[in-house]
Amino acid sequence: EGLATAIIGRPNVGKSSLMNSLVHENKAIVTDIPGTTRDVLEEYVNVRGVPLRLIDTAGIRETEDIVEKIGVERSRKALADAELILFVLNAAEELSKEDEALFEAIQDMNAVVVLNKTDLEITIDTDRVSSLAGERPVIGTSLLREEGIDELEQAIAHLF
Ligand code: GDP
Ligand code: MG
Repeated sequence: EGLATAIIGRPNVGKSSLMNSLVHENKAIVTDIPGTTRDVLEEYVNVRGVPLRLIDTAGIRETEDIVEKIGVERSRKALADAELILFVLNAAEELSKEDEALFEAIQDMNAVVVLNKTDLEITIDTDRVSSLAGERPVIGTSLLREEGIDELEQAIAHLF
């Protein structure tokens, strides 16, 4: 088993990269094409003594592609069933309406907010992110440079 942990966020923010970083393997396909992860991938991983069942969700977005549509539906279910949420945001973009909607969707849920792509110029409103995160930790990462992963693992372990 393991705590059901949904990795959520808009397409292309780095969800599959995060999955690979935590598993320490390159299993999920990472590309710069939004919509690459169309199905839901699962991996078991032990984060500092905390067993997690990681679920790399397809980006939750409106789509006409039938395979992607099924993936998005499964992502919504993974979110609803999750005991822990890893919510990935792109630090190099403005906070979008979709991000705000996801914050709303995970209200009152156990979550860690991952501000990824900190190697790029940070343009996201970090005060707004902190305020939406509330008590929940916000961790900066550059998954590309393998930075921030220790801090993230520590934050996850600290919650349990
Ligand atoms: P997903 O669609 O959310 O699963 O995102 P992916 O993990 O597939 O990553 C989308 C793109 O962002 C890929 O081209 C990654 O190489 C890139 N990427 C992921 N993490 C970082 C990062 O920390 N910095 C930069 N600059 N690019 C990143
Ligand atoms: Mg992906």
